[in-house]
Amino acid sequence: MKIVAAKKILKMNDQLAAENHAALEAAGVFALNVVGSPGAGKTTLLEALFAQLKGRLRPGVIEGDIAGSIDAERMETIGVPVVQINTDGACHLDAHMVAAAGKELDLREIDLLAIENVGNLVCTSGFDLGEHLRIVVLSTSEGDDKAVKYPAIFQGSQALVITKIDLLPYLNFDAQRITADVKRLAPEAAVFQVSAVRGDGIAEVADWLAEKCGRRAR
Ligand code: MG
Ligand code: ZN
Repeated sequence: MKIVAAKKILKMNDQLAAENHAALEAAGVFALNVVGSPGAGKTTLLEALFAQLKGRLRPGVIEGDIAGSIDAERMETIGVPVVQINTDGACHLDAHMVAAAGKELDLREIDLLAIENVGNLVCTSGFDLGEHLRIVVLSTSEGDDKAVKYPAIFQGSQALVITKIDLLPYLNFDAQRITADVKRLAPEAAVFQVSAVRGDGIAEVADWLAEKCGRRAR
């Protein structure tokens, strides 16, 4: 009988992630791992950010989905270079998938590469993709208790973007509560509140990203 330890697979992932990171650095590409539940508004946030960053940073996207290419088509519509990964049932992206997808992009034409992970707050936290920053996207309709229930994903992220704040009048969502919970798990994490439909907060996230992107050592 052959037994493969999960620990060993994760170690392999870490090694590949380090290779991805080195390749991104060599190409001058700043990469984001965008995680969050299905329907949190990850793709909509990216669309709004790219519009905001027009002329400042050249975007590219890797879309991770179990099936289909709906989000990748949205990126094509706004003229952003994109590669779709279909995970065929797998509930998260891993460094190997990202390495393969990255080869399909012309990294010389990209400053900011957003890797939109499969919608999932659980195991996406366990796989480093080689990114520079991980951003959790959480919509107000998901509830303000998610940092307590899914700590790992918040713990390892550099920012929380709370989306759909235009819905706040209709929900019992306490932004202060989740902000405090996230600050406990990740004291350095930035917390943003946005509404992509109204445009609230998008400029703040875009400026933060542009600063992070510009500040790193080349
Ligand atoms: Mg999406
Ligand atoms: Zn998974």
